Amino acid sequence: AGKLAAVLSNFHAVAAGGASPAEALVSVDMLREAIDAEAFQPWFQPQAELRNGKIVAVEMLARWPQQDGGMIEPLRFIPLLEQHGLIDAFTEQMLARSCRHREAWVRDGLDLKLAVNISALCLGDAATADRLEAIVRGEGVDPASVVLEITEGSVICGSPTSLSVLARLRLKGFGLSIDDFGTGYASLSRLSHVPFTELKIDRGFVTGAPGVARKKAVIEASIDLARKLDLRIVGEGVETAEEWELLARCGCGLAQGYLIGRPVPASELPSVVADWRRPGA
Ligand code: C2E
Ligand code: MG
Ligand code: MG
Ligand code: MG
Repeated sequence: AGKLAAVLSNFHAVAAGGASPAEALVSVDMLREAIDAEAFQPWFQPQAELRNGKIVAVEMLARWPQQDGGMIEPLRFIPLLEQHGLIDAFTEQMLARSCRHREAWVRDGLDLKLAVNISALCLGDAATADRLEAIVRGEGVDPASVVLEITEGSVICGSPTSLSVLARLRLKGFGLSIDDFGTGYASLSRLSHVPFTELKIDRGFVTGAPGVARKKAVIEASIDLARKLDLRIVGEGVETAEEWELLARCGCGLAQGYLIGRPVPASELPSVVADWRRPGA
């Protein structure tokens, strides 16, 4: 408990841009306790079809709220969960809880596909495909309603095991998405060996694209590639109406970003969906 207090007071220094590595104080016990207590929360960010503005999917983004009202971001705690061998337990719990939220939305007439980020480490275990399928089906969800996002970077160092896990997940019906496309230096040859169903253009190319020819070129080439490989395509980081319109003109399928909605707790998602109006509508 003393350690936790130290982390919490330290966290503000980090959040404020200080160099103090608060995460160095997070012990394996604290992480395990946080999993057991369901202290991590699944938040959700909507994805809308550019064609008609309809919200058809959500991406689950994990959050770790602190008792003092602070919030630890996933880029800080995911690496710790990975280091301490807890990423599988974390991922399985968050997937199950996200499926439960999805089912509640479906019951309320909101049929949303669910996207979940999967760490490269989870793909190193041959049993992962069976386990993820069992979890999803255990919550009454068809794997076809779930998209697993794998960063482009983690496909680069893909072992034979991870490639076969991905293939088995696809055979079970899961969608497979290349996250942060354009940032990971993965060869197109390697990417084409994984049965992906979706490509997400990294936010670095989308945000600000209307004024930057270089970004626009990457977006157009990504969309062209996705079309030819028959992949669904999502533009990340859409913050303005101009960025929305650019993606729509280029024939991008889906948009995700603060323009449509920020990540919110499950309880707030229905009102985000109800309040959303696409640009020009
Ligand atoms: P990601 O999967 O690429 O998720 C998109 C990130 O961009 C999220 O950051 C989201 O909040 C942020 N974002 C979305 N729209 C906008 C926008 O319009 N503008 C800006 N500036 N940012 C936007 P977040 O939630 O901090 O997550 C960061 C990364 O952490 C994620 O990147 C993902 O790789 C990882 N992550 C989050 N949750 C999980 C999880 O449950 N498991 C694993 N393995 N990784 C996770
Ligand atoms: Mg993602
Ligand atoms: Mg991404
Ligand atoms: Mg990204």
